Amino acid sequence: MTSVTSMWTCHWARRRLQRYFDADPSARLTRVEVHRLEAHLATCERCTALAGDHRGLHRALLRRWAHRSRTRPQSPSSGWPPSNS
Ligand SMILES: [Zn+2]
Repeated sequence: MTSVTSMWTCHWARRRLQRYFDADPSARLTRVEVHRLEAHLATCERCTALAGDHRGLHRALLRRWAHRSRTRPQSPSSGWPPSNS
């Protein structure tokens, strides 16, 4: 994905965040738009942070990412307490 495409997608997504969370029946996003918006939020930290202003989505996503990125190998032979002071 080029940066230009990314910037455009951010612009596109942010314009729809409000409608996405409001779920306004008179201005509802199409399924394709919702799918595209969610797909973008899954890959864009900025827009996810912006979405977090609306609801707890940011926190939920962060928790998911934190769980996924917690891949540090825990060596049982390192001892306890850790001595990396
Ligand atoms: Zn974005």
